[in-house]
Amino acid sequence: MSTILLVEDETTLAETLCYNLEREGYQVRQALDGIQGLEMARNEGADLLILDIMLPRLDGLSVCRILRQESDIPIIMLTARQDEVDRIAGLELGADDYVSKPFSLGELLARVRAILRRTERQPTGDKREILDCGGLRVDARSRRAWRNGVELTLPQKAFDLLTCLMRNRGIALSRDLLLERVWGYDFLGDSRTVDVHIRWLREKIEPEPASPRYIQTVRGVGYRFDTLYVDT
Ligand code: CA
Repeated sequence: MSTILLVEDETTLAETLCYNLEREGYQVRQALDGIQGLEMARNEGADLLILDIMLPRLDGLSVCRILRQESDIPIIMLTARQDEVDRIAGLELGADDYVSKPFSLGELLARVRAILRRTERQPTGDKREILDCGGLRVDARSRRAWRNGVELTLPQKAFDLLTCLMRNRGIALSRDLLLERVWGYDFLGDSRTVDVHIRWLREKIEPEPASPRYIQTVRGVGYRFDTLYVDT
């Protein structure tokens, strides 16, 4: 079942859309302003975003622009004025489509179906996955990582290692398990490989690599991505 995040502050319209999208078999989550929409898109993800432009706290154009730097989640913009249409096109914000208010329900649903059909056909198969923790953010599909909004350049294995640790945060992972997950079963190396890459990774992500906040060493076992001290 596809999940749609609807960011619309007009409650009557939002309720109508929500009701009809759910009737079509979609799971719908709602946000009532731009900040909430951005946070929900980041933290919970969705298969499609329906984003109004005139929103409290943060307008839809800004939400679109910010999200586009971080993810390729499909976005349909709802516009109320012709000049907004021009801005969507002119600013190349990366919205996938737009509908102008007032629009017919049939028109919107047709566009939703078209976009979801298109993204479902994409060969990647796996869903977008954003991992977010204590100022560290990883987008597993586009293979990008950020700390406090600043993009990090991570070597391939360091990225895979970080993704694996964050997916299992709070759990101690043995060196052998990490080798298996990140390097594959047939890798002919020893567990010191993991230590070396952890050291490189810490240099990239830790404010103080010598006293790590994120990746904890678990004596006699391996490593654990810890959220204990970094969650706010
Ligand atoms: Ca609005």
